[in-house]
Amino acid sequence: MAKATPAPVNQHLFRSLLDQLPHLNANQIEDLLSSTMDIRRARASLSEIEGRAERDSACPHCGNCRRQKWGQTRTGVQRFRCSGCLKTYTGLTGTPICGIHRHDLFLEVVRDMFSDRPRSCRKMAFSLGKTKDTIWRWRMLILETVGHGSDTKFSGIVEVDETHQRESRKGSRERVLHRQNPSLYPRPPRHQWYVYKSGRVKMKRGLSRWQLPLLTITDRSGHRFLERIKNRSIPVIDAALSPVVATDAVLCTDGAAAYARFSTRNGMVHHVLSNKPGQRVVEKAFHIQNVNSLHSRYDEFMRPFKGPASKYLKLYLRWFLLRSRLSSEEAFRRVLSSK
Ligand SMILES: [Zn+2]
Repeated sequence: MAKATPAPVNQHLFRSLLDQLPHLNANQIEDLLSSTMDIRRARASLSEIEGRAERDSACPHCGNCRRQKWGQTRTGVQRFRCSGCLKTYTGLTGTPICGIHRHDLFLEVVRDMFSDRPRSCRKMAFSLGKTKDTIWRWRMLILETVGHGSDTKFSGIVEVDETHQRESRKGSRERVLHRQNPSLYPRPPRHQWYVYKSGRVKMKRGLSRWQLPLLTITDRSGHRFLERIKNRSIPVIDAALSPVVATDAVLCTDGAAAYARFSTRNGMVHHVLSNKPGQRVVEKAFHIQNVNSLHSRYDEFMRPFKGPASKYLKLYLRWFLLRSRLSSEEAFRRVLSSK
């Protein structure tokens, strides 16, 4: 049943409410704070949802723009009835979160993800009174619908380098299944990382095939690219750079063969930089310090997650890139407007 809109509180009542505040005890103050926080949260998400309904007045069922107000849903969202097909809808209909009742808590998860220090799913679940699986599912939904993180056009002075991320099979059942039924489930291809760390099994020196390469590109206009690539071979790096780097760009790299080949093939100016003192900057302008700084921020961002499962790495890279570019409100708006 539709909820009736509460009548606005008049000024006199509001003043008497404020006069009562100094007489509240500690528990009542806590209750009051948590209630006002809940209301504030609900209002914020409602205003975003209603804003979407205002911007896009077309019926999600038939596209007709003529509609009339048709009460509110249980969660307070304005419902409309289309004058063409007579079906009802709200600003949430057809969005990825139309099945989520607590859109206010969903907005809190978005806010946390785009804050300075995102909390773990467990901590969020505890503070919002949801399960950690719900928070995880919402987080993945946000990352899938919030849009791409990497830019697609790089020009001017372009810095290219790569970093690595350990392969992770977090959450995989393959080891348990292998123990239960070795004939049906083969042994996983490597030991768990802690086994190498304990020293029981010797780890190969240098980069093994379990270090996933991530290609990083930046330019001086602030464009950034961070994507996983299959390997560091010349054809793979060539295929990754060709669509995004302008052919008149000046390339700054650490001098890996693939970059030298790419710049020669496209007739680009190529500066090879090193981390050794005196060779970090060429002609006072060409360096790879932006890309190195991006790597250190990436490492810092990833540290609390203790190596996310590799199947979700793409979404984590997107999250990392979008964090500095989007406000939580803009991210929520993007989730609402994605199909
Ligand atoms: Zn319609």
